[in-house]
Amino acid sequence: MASIFKRIINGEIPCYKIAEDDNCFAFLDINPLNQGHTLVVPKQEVDYIYDLDDELLSKLFLFSKKVALAIEKAIPCERIGVAVIGLEVPHAHIHLCPINGMSDLNFANPKKQFSKETFEETAAIIRANL
Ligand code: AMP
Repeated sequence: MASIFKRIINGEIPCYKIAEDDNCFAFLDINPLNQGHTLVVPKQEVDYIYDLDDELLSKLFLFSKKVALAIEKAIPCERIGVAVIGLEVPHAHIHLCPINGMSDLNFANPKKQFSKETFEETAAIIRANL
């Protein structure tokens, strides 16, 4: 069965989409550490990020850079933190999180809750800065 992220990429499950290209897809994390917390995934369904071939891994990171710079413009923060966890969803992904200090990137922190409208506005302002 397809991973939840593959189903998002295929449009079978809704998401707050940020961007896509031929190989990669970005959308807001539904349980964010901070407003603007975004996931960047390869369209190819591979569980472990270091199992991606070098070319796709490079494309994923370059695509993440574009998305991170847009998040940074859209959301007031000191910088964009980057993390790879992958313990919950077996489809490789990069977390991009606006942070103002080291503790903002602690995945044990309680997740933020936002309304659908806020998620939609957040995605729209990030998209506008791409
Ligand atoms: P991990 O695999 O440990 O890196 O965590 C997976 C991340 O995916 C978590 O931060 C979840 O909040 C996020 N997530 C899971 N399902 C969805 C979904 N349907 N839409 C957006 N984010 C999701």
